[in-house]
Amino acid sequence: MVFINVYMDEQIEFRLKGVERIRIKKKRKKKKNYNENQIALFPEIKQSLKDGFWNDEKLKKPEKITLSASKISLLHTCPFCYYLQYEKHEKVPKSLNLVFGTLIHRLLDKFYEKNFKSAESFIKYFYRQWFDTVAGKYLKGTEKENLQISEYNYQTKDEDKILKVGNHIRFSYHPVDEFFANMQTGRGILRRFFERHKEKQKPFQKEKHFIFNYGMVEGIDVFMQGVWDRIDATKDNKLIITDYKTNKESPEKDTFLLHRYPQFTIYSKAFRRLYGQEEEFVLFYHLRSGKLFKTKRSSEDFSYLDELVNESIRKIIMIRNEKATPFYGYSCPRCDYKPKCENLWVSAGPHYKTEDFKIKATIPDTWAEWDEE
Ligand code: SF4
Repeated sequence: MVFINVYMDEQIEFRLKGVERIRIKKKRKKKKNYNENQIALFPEIKQSLKDGFWNDEKLKKPEKITLSASKISLLHTCPFCYYLQYEKHEKVPKSLNLVFGTLIHRLLDKFYEKNFKSAESFIKYFYRQWFDTVAGKYLKGTEKENLQISEYNYQTKDEDKILKVGNHIRFSYHPVDEFFANMQTGRGILRRFFERHKEKQKPFQKEKHFIFNYGMVEGIDVFMQGVWDRIDATKDNKLIITDYKTNKESPEKDTFLLHRYPQFTIYSKAFRRLYGQEEEFVLFYHLRSGKLFKTKRSSEDFSYLDELVNESIRKIIMIRNEKATPFYGYSCPRCDYKPKCENLWVSAGPHYKTEDFKIKATIPDTWAEWDEE
């Protein structure tokens, strides 16, 4: 009995200590982490420190937001880039890879509409479209008005020719080399696609846009939209979602992203909502190699997507309340909005132009040269 009493006393003591610890923690939380006197010089900062980062009542909120896989991805990569693209609708030159990928998707769709007699006729059709796309022939509206053409010489077996390149495209290296490298890749993709699919039945659906009501987040009605590249029916009436990818890398060596990618979770969720049944699987169609990779989504993936959607909505609210903080990092060198980003300054962060830093690297005679001065 004595032993039990001692034990109970210890338990009570332990619980008391626990309560004390919680009190101490709460006290610490209340402690100000800024210098009251110095902060008084900056009234707006003081207000935001008092309000905290997320003050619900003060934030302007829209009634409805429509998300997509690319919006969610951009919000988590760089909120400032999202702001420029989706809130300010800034028009900037797109990377050639993006333009190439979009054209290939359009051609694979056309494959089922036009009756191409041979792989060669399909490829010739692509060649014409590729030259015209890069020359800006299909642009509309302000993009068409602002189009400027540069001309580059190139040689075929028999003659000298000129490649017309519009200012709506951003090249990573020499335009002629990059143009023809993509043309070569496109040729391989379309030939393989033609040979594989010419005798096969048409997809159940193709290039199908979807939109569905995701639910309420932070008092906002959220919608999710996207495009399924194709949906195919199996012999036993099961449905497969396929996404065409023109990426260089396939998931062959590393399937980490394949089984986690939120884009496929969105496709799967949309499918189950709109068709009222589970898809058999989602297929990653790596067009450069022709290889197919299966993946499947589960309730854990959907919970993860819920988290992402919640975070995305909070980020959009902050952006619409003028807190679009740039994320200077690994994505900047490939960012189409970099020139705009250098000239605009919306939220926090340094404000300077790249020219300010166009300085030659110095190679000192000795490493410690400046120490000796
Ligand atoms: S350059 Fe970098 S920081 Fe600027 S918008 Fe693009 S990704 Fe964001």
